[in-house]
Amino acid sequence: MLILLTNDDGYRAAGLQALRRGLAPLGRVVTVAPAREMSGVSHALTLSRPLSVETIEEDVHAVDGTPTDCTNLALNHLLPGRPDVLVSGVNHGANLGDDVTYSGTVGAAIEGTLFGVPSIAVSQEGAGEGSDFTAVASVAREIARLLGTRSHRLPRGTLLNVNAPRASVSGVRATCLARRTYKDSIVQREDPRGRPYYWVGGSAIWEAWEGSDRHAVAQERAVSVTLLATDLSAGAPGAQPVKREEGCLDAALRPLIQGLSEHLGCATRESCGERDS
Ligand code: MN
Repeated sequence: MLILLTNDDGYRAAGLQALRRGLAPLGRVVTVAPAREMSGVSHALTLSRPLSVETIEEDVHAVDGTPTDCTNLALNHLLPGRPDVLVSGVNHGANLGDDVTYSGTVGAAIEGTLFGVPSIAVSQEGAGEGSDFTAVASVAREIARLLGTRSHRLPRGTLLNVNAPRASVSGVRATCLARRTYKDSIVQREDPRGRPYYWVGGSAIWEAWEGSDRHAVAQERAVSVTLLATDLSAGAPGAQPVKREEGCLDAALRPLIQGLSEHLGCATRESCGERDS
């Protein structure tokens, strides 16, 4: 299996390194990732200057561009063939609800989807350089295996957005995106010359009902799996109206979630061997 690995935190990031190790048993993993952090660049493409690629070691390439540039360069030039699956992450920090529209991690996976490659974006709440990515890497490997071997097929034009809680994973949930707004979202300060400067940020206000990705990660401590569609038009052909009471469990995801729940149970319980025997 040929796997394209990318992210938006840069090729050195601990989350990407954990995925690289985690995916290795599946086949050849080729990393094409930004040379430095590019969080929050969404689906941006570099059009106004040339891109350079530095090969760090065999199958690890750093691009001085966006995550979408990385996917584009990988698929159309750097890879030896068409990848079986694209994995973007593990992002340092969750990408939940409306935040997916800002995410470079998700942007790279959207680019893969547009080229017809089964793609997943993977993030972990509150993660950083010293975080333990064992559980999320295990879930990502299982999803990559199922998609890469075509054991599970996503509907055309869709991708998976996967988010893990920071610790003690309780299970796997199929979710839909929560709603989020920021209050006090612009912070004004003054520089030493008396001129104002600004930070974008502030505190988040979540509307996170049961069945939403934010609820699954923050309240249930579960891995959230959301099916996203690249067609953003409201009432897109085939788009189903969201039924919150059903927890957004798309029929297309049902077997996948079942399989992942068993896989996660397997990875966290010693009784796994008994089930297999
Ligand atoms: Mn990031």
